[in-house]
Amino acid sequence: MNKHIATDQTGNLNTSNLQVAFCTKTNSDLKLAHWLFSLMGKPALVKAGGVATVWALKLGLPIKGLIRNTIYRHFCGGETAQQALRVVAKLAAAHVHTVLDYAAEAQVTEEGFNAVRNEILQNIALAKETNSFSYISIKLTGIGHKAIFEKLNGNIVLIPEENAAFERTENRLDEVCAKAAEAGLIVYIDAEESWMQNPMDMLAEEMMRRYNRGRAVVFNTLQMYRTDRIQYLQDCLRRFENEDIILGIKIVRGAYLEKEQERAARYNYPCPVFTRKEDTDQSFNQAIDIALENLNRLELCAATHNEYSTTYLTKRIKLEKIGEHRKRIHFSQLYGMSDNLTFNLADAGYNASKYLPYGDVATAVPYLIRRAEENTSIAGQMGRELSLLEAEMRRRKL
Ligand SMILES: Cc1cc2nc3c(=O)[nH]c(=O)nc-3n(C[C@H](O)[C@H](O)[C@H](O)COP(=O)(O)OP(=O)(O)OC[C@H]3O[C@@H](n4cnc5c(N)ncnc54)[C@H](O)[C@@H]3O)c2cc1C
Repeated sequence: MNKHIATDQTGNLNTSNLQVAFCTKTNSDLKLAHWLFSLMGKPALVKAGGVATVWALKLGLPIKGLIRNTIYRHFCGGETAQQALRVVAKLAAAHVHTVLDYAAEAQVTEEGFNAVRNEILQNIALAKETNSFSYISIKLTGIGHKAIFEKLNGNIVLIPEENAAFERTENRLDEVCAKAAEAGLIVYIDAEESWMQNPMDMLAEEMMRRYNRGRAVVFNTLQMYRTDRIQYLQDCLRRFENEDIILGIKIVRGAYLEKEQERAARYNYPCPVFTRKEDTDQSFNQAIDIALENLNRLELCAATHNEYSTTYLTKRIKLEKIGEHRKRIHFSQLYGMSDNLTFNLADAGYNASKYLPYGDVATAVPYLIRRAEENTSIAGQMGRELSLLEAEMRRRKL
């Protein structure tokens, strides 16, 4: 593929090169995507469908096949990491990296936490053996108790058993980061709800101290819909000022807006997230500015489907002639969304990746419901996806 063709001198990214955007999609993939995004445009259907799916699975009704061949096929890589390698190879052929994401939701037992840790360790071994992907992601509620994160966040003193459990969580994370560092991989630690995030930030920073020597192995995620994250980013930079480490910062807008607002209203505390979209947008772009000023000691991942933020970053990279440090900037989108950004970014020579979840169908259902809900707005992402798919179908005369 021709590198450096998709941006002009000003860094304007051509995000509507359809041939590039859909280079990995067969005609039947396109038709499936079109059908799905059309259905997702009906919020009442998505709401009812989500509830019905959860109940049908609980009752053991035979709907897994239907899910597997539709929404699951569009948003997930397969039921096992081995199966996901087929998608990984397709992405790699278009110079797109994969962030392999084991789609286990929050666990509640020590066995569950150990199983998630073991799965991720196996993935690191698989990456090393196959040399096919170099990023993994981890959700800390997959390897530690929510209740303990919540207590620590509220400065509540833990009882000895809880302290021991938290230590085990830290050890699990440490094993993952140590193995990833050894294998030359990158670990993205996902951000979760604000009422658990402080101890998660603390763990992420501790891992950076241990492993981000010379390069960023560990990335913490900052949700820029939070009113305090610009301050947190600046504090983080200050805290690490005299340490010889590279900060890893992944910025997202944030996935739990309504939950955050509802909880703050229920317990009557100041809402930790913005209430206007433009404030979140502004904070996201400000985080880009701060990151670019500190590229000598920071690596940035802009994880977004927002076209303005993406092209804002490509323009700044181009105009400011960031040069060598350009490899410290990563872009990432979710598999099944915004292919026009990911593939055109990769085609233009940027470091672009897809978050690729995998796991058995039932486990992936909460993730799929979140994707469906996120894509219900005709004015937002869904409308954009649909019009691009329609344009590509016309181009292919389907
Ligand atoms: C690769 C990748 C990794 C991700 N990892 C995480 C993660 O670790 N943790 C996490 O929480 N999320 C994560 N997300 C999801 C992310 O936080 C967003 O929910 C999603 O990407 C949509 O935001 P956007 O920037 O793509 O685009 P946009 O469509 O421009 O923005 C939508 C977002 O804007 C914000 N918003 C919308 N309305 C308002 C309003 N009225 N007031 C204030 N803010 C508003 C919300 O955050 C909403 O999700 C990830 C996304 C990607 C692409």
